[in-house]
Amino acid sequence: MNGRALTGRNAIAGEWGHNPLPWPRDDERPGPACYCGRHGCIETWLSGPGLAADYGRASGESLTGEQIVVAAKSGKAAAVAAMARYLDRLGRGIAHVVNVLDPDVIVLGGGLSRVDTLVAALPERIAPYVFSDSFDTPVRASRHGDASGVRGAAWLWGTTDASAEARIASQH
Ligand SMILES: [Zn+2]
Repeated sequence: MNGRALTGRNAIAGEWGHNPLPWPRDDERPGPACYCGRHGCIETWLSGPGLAADYGRASGESLTGEQIVVAAKSGKAAAVAAMARYLDRLGRGIAHVVNVLDPDVIVLGGGLSRVDTLVAALPERIAPYVFSDSFDTPVRASRHGDASGVRGAAWLWGTTDASAEARIASQH
C-alpha cells in the first residue's frame, strides 16, 4: 500500500492462504483438510501440493504439480482439466483480494508462477468475480520467481544485504 508492505495490527495482513476458497462449488465443500485445523483453505487448493491432491482425487493417479503442468502442455485430458479447475479457483481467490484492496498490480510468486500460460490466462478468470464493470489490473510473475518467499523472509529479518538473501535463496 503506497509503496510499502502492509503489516497490519496483528501482523497478519496478506495471510490469505487460510481464508476459505471463495464462491465454492458444491463439490468443493467442505474441501480438503488443512493443517491449520479447518477445511477448504485456499492453500489446500492453490499450492503445488494442492494441485497434485486435486488431480489425484479426480484421476486416481499420483503426479506432482510440475508433472501435471507438463502433462497438460502435452494435452493429457485429466491434466488439462485439473489446470482449468486450478485457474478458475485462482481467479476466484484473487478476485476476493481485488474486491477488498483493488491493488495496482497482482504479482504471483511460488513455483506455479513460472507457468506462463497460467499467468496469461488469469485476468479473464478474475474479471467475472470482481465487483466492477471494468477490470484492467495487470497480472505478472514475480521477478524473483519461486525464491520470492525467502527473499521476503530475509527482508523481515531487517537485512537488505543482497548476499544474505542470495545465501537464503540458494538453500531454498
Ligand atoms: Zn488452513
